[in-house]
Amino acid sequence: MTIDTDRTTAPAVPSRLLKSPARTDEGRGSSPEVRKVVEEVIADIRTRGDEAVREYSERFDKYSPDTFLLSDEKLQEIMARVPQQVIDDITFVQEQVRVMAQKQLESLSDFEIETLPGVLLGQKNVPVEAAGAYIPGGKYPLLASAHMTIITAKVAGVERVAACTPLIQGEVPDATVAAMHLAGADEIYLLGGIQAVAAMAIGTETIRPVNMLAGPGNAFVAEAKRQLFGEVGIDLFAGPTEVLIVADEHADPFIVAVDLLSQTEHGPDSPAVLITTSEDLGRQVIDHIEAILPDMPTRDFAEPAWRDWGAVHVVQSLDDAYALADQYAYEHVQILTEEPRTALEKMHNYGALFLGEGTCVSYGDKVIGTNHVLPTRGAARYTGGLWVGKYLRTVTYQEVVNTESSAFFGELCGRAARVERFEGHARSGDVRAAKYRRTGLSW
Ligand code: NAD
Repeated sequence: MTIDTDRTTAPAVPSRLLKSPARTDEGRGSSPEVRKVVEEVIADIRTRGDEAVREYSERFDKYSPDTFLLSDEKLQEIMARVPQQVIDDITFVQEQVRVMAQKQLESLSDFEIETLPGVLLGQKNVPVEAAGAYIPGGKYPLLASAHMTIITAKVAGVERVAACTPLIQGEVPDATVAAMHLAGADEIYLLGGIQAVAAMAIGTETIRPVNMLAGPGNAFVAEAKRQLFGEVGIDLFAGPTEVLIVADEHADPFIVAVDLLSQTEHGPDSPAVLITTSEDLGRQVIDHIEAILPDMPTRDFAEPAWRDWGAVHVVQSLDDAYALADQYAYEHVQILTEEPRTALEKMHNYGALFLGEGTCVSYGDKVIGTNHVLPTRGAARYTGGLWVGKYLRTVTYQEVVNTESSAFFGELCGRAARVERFEGHARSGDVRAAKYRRTGLSW
């Protein structure tokens, strides 16, 4: 993958490739083919509602029931099928996600300040009323996405959370449904892909529209969210997973290899990149990967991902490694160096950092409590991942309870608005200044 230096402020970083990706960069954002399919499906669902949703679900997922909404009765049947250990684990992980989200909520304070006598300016964080959560399920039952999207929305105070996930190979994903239910979803739909995203955003005869959509997904899901942005809010562009590891000579090459491959199994379009200061380590990692791949149960995705998109760079210094990693602006960045916390100072573009050997991207993905819905394809240059604040609107208010202060602002506003030639605005200031100062109006 070549780095798109035109679109980044980072300088070109000299590096030598021990392994180059077989495919070249497709650019940031979605491919033209994906954009076209998504456009057509959204337009059709906008016109024909449920009928179109059902047709696309049949075409892409071979599933077209009378209703996609899971009834209480069906939900109870599914819950009864999920093993207790799975329920216990889901509950534990959801608690970790909740604790993190609650702390994030506490970090956002509403406030009111008095800037001049009787001039009160305030800020409040107000949750959206309805959110849609997309839980991916095309290749794997990604139940951890239920914790990330639904728990976070509920901690933010969202009243109605509608959640969608597709069938997986024709089967209801029991554990995913359990996670959606335990997380507090108010409506659960067995619906996936563009049709799920469009139905939640636009609304149909049977699915009420939401104000905000969150959740990861494949290229179609991510592009559908992007196209619907404006009509609804979206969390971020969270498409196919990416991993980048920065490692020095202290890293364990076997662990580096295992961790790189852990993310390639997401799909054939999931890149894995190593940037290292040690050529010896780089070569060992490549050898380990070649040894592990043939027997990897998820080889069908991991192997093309590694061959097509995998890269190993050797750089002169850790500073160069961080600078190059910043250019990639990847979703997950793992730091396997002697002093991993230096990355907190040196790096700027990433969705989430994983510091040191004691943790890994899989912990973040599945169990530890930080949110795994993270920016991909360069979006980390301008946004972080999903967090409680994405479900909140930071709104402001003002009140002036001192007539002298209002008269002062009235005169100031009159002058300021006339510089901009806004006579109507100016007059709103004039009338207050005239009333509170008991002077006449000059117009
Ligand atoms: P998914 O639920 O995102 O997509 C499955 C749906 O895609 C299907 O239901 C189907 O309707 C639709 N679809 C499939 N092929 C189609 C086609 N040719 N045309 C139109 N629609 C089509 O599940 P998935 O495919 O397993 O993908 C999950 C993705 O989520 C992976 O790429 C993974 O890397 C990504 N992910 C990203 C993050 C993040 O935060 N960025 C986190 C977790 C997972």
